Amino acid sequence: MEFEELYQDVILDHSRRPRNFGELPDATVHVHGDNPMCGDEINVHLKFGPDDTVEGITFTGNGCSICMASASLMTTKVKKKSRSEAEAMMHTFQDMLTAEEEKPPGMRLGDLELFKGVRKFPLRVKCATLAWHALEEALQKKV
Ligand code: ZN
Repeated sequence: MEFEELYQDVILDHSRRPRNFGELPDATVHVHGDNPMCGDEINVHLKFGPDDTVEGITFTGNGCSICMASASLMTTKVKKKSRSEAEAMMHTFQDMLTAEEEKPPGMRLGDLELFKGVRKFPLRVKCATLAWHALEEALQKKV
């Protein structure tokens, strides 16, 4: 597989026009994540709803296209999900990229499966998982 194949249309589109990009005025959780190897730096802003759902989630910062696209897709996927659904998705995504043995994902990830090709590029794995690590930290905060 060529490196260019990583940059499929959906990933390019999300990196150029990131969704949920910007501050979240009533966010109760803010998490910073950085990936010095590449220079990616993002902040995830999250607000939990009364029923423990991810009521709102946005991100700010700067990163390479893989990082920005992954953060953008992450916010669209976990918004309105319950904390446990968001956690399950996060673990499935991280497993898809980092598990020793490649295996079919435990749940359907839709567009997120486009990132599977990143497995073969260890330096890029950190770019693709940065936003998810930030999400992991955010989900652990009980607010
Ligand atoms: Zn990067």
